[in-house]
Amino acid sequence: MHTNSIIELSRTALEKNIAFLRKTFGKKVILSSVVKGNAYGHGIAEFTSMAHDMDVNHFSVFDVEEAKAVYANLQDKVTIMVMGLVSDEDMKWVVDKGVEFFVFEKTRLNKAVKTAKILQKKAKVHIEIETGMNRTGFDKKDLNSIISILKKESNNIVFKGLCTHYAGAESIANYYRIDNQIKKFEEAYQNFCNHGLKPEIKHSACSAASIMFPQTRMDLVRIGIMQYGLWPSPEVFVNYLNAKKSKIDPLQRVITWKSKIMNIKTVNSGEFIGYGNSFLAERKMTIAVIPIGYAHGYSRSLSNQGRVLINGHRCVVVGSINMNMMTIDITDIGNVKKEDEVILIGRQNQVSVSVASFSDLSNQLNYELLTRISKTIPRKIIE
Ligand SMILES: *Cc1c(COP(=O)(O)O)cnc(C)c1O
Repeated sequence: MHTNSIIELSRTALEKNIAFLRKTFGKKVILSSVVKGNAYGHGIAEFTSMAHDMDVNHFSVFDVEEAKAVYANLQDKVTIMVMGLVSDEDMKWVVDKGVEFFVFEKTRLNKAVKTAKILQKKAKVHIEIETGMNRTGFDKKDLNSIISILKKESNNIVFKGLCTHYAGAESIANYYRIDNQIKKFEEAYQNFCNHGLKPEIKHSACSAASIMFPQTRMDLVRIGIMQYGLWPSPEVFVNYLNAKKSKIDPLQRVITWKSKIMNIKTVNSGEFIGYGNSFLAERKMTIAVIPIGYAHGYSRSLSNQGRVLINGHRCVVVGSINMNMMTIDITDIGNVKKEDEVILIGRQNQVSVSVASFSDLSNQLNYELLTRISKTIPRKIIE
């Protein structure tokens, strides 16, 4: 068992975030909790249990492996929606368990029909529309044939949803592209309606779109990063605050990642610290060694720039992040000893390190750093 570090999940923080999201979107909008990437590193079993305790009963995942992890935990007490890959081998399990899934290719729709017939159970599909992301989704020219399959196979297929995904709603620089996508999606929806086919719901928003473009909320929002207490980008946060009187962040980080100091040593001025020569001690320094490295998901790109908390002080990573260790400058903070607590993400006394604070380089790094946190680190739910 991994004893080098521990991840704590705050129930209170999640409660706060869910309450904020519900208040923002209103009762009529379904909140789908996006738990792909091991629930953004939080741990899919622990996180979905906690969210389900708060009456979240809709979960979105990327693939069937993740769908199975949610199912193992909550069975059919919740709706599970696969937004990405369903392989042919997995179709039987998906239809049998009533798991919903995105369809963006005709072969998958046909496979769903075939499987539904064999199992005598309807397949629950969300038809994904290509509106400008250029990744997955049906093009306009495919829609007529999809419409005719859906009509013909209404005994085998439930037309659960019509959906799309935006290409960068977290930055206003993409405004025209997103605006165009919204228009294209409405057109596609009208096209289905004109053929007498209405999906049960339509949905398009991720966290960023739900705040930047409220009209994208529709019947369901697919919320990942914000439920974990982080903003998709500083721009989205500013955009939210601009419309508010109080300038208080309504979100609270759910995750805390803690370790302990495993060794302390003194380094003389003029010595290099760690592999190679990326860090030169320009004075006599005291260094704390932490048993966490890139093998545990602490990105190597944080070499010489990551921040951790020790004794309530923000301290900087010196040298490169190793596979299983990193070195921290503790020269200017007194009274540090082996076994002292180190916060990699979280709060200590009045100071905090957020995922964002060590990933100013890019917003996407927020998502990346979280999802890379090793699955083998124990997760513990706290109040
Ligand atoms: C990941 C994902 C989301 C959630 O994105 P956040 O920015 O974390 O809210 C929504 N929709 C799709 C299709 C996704 O892949």
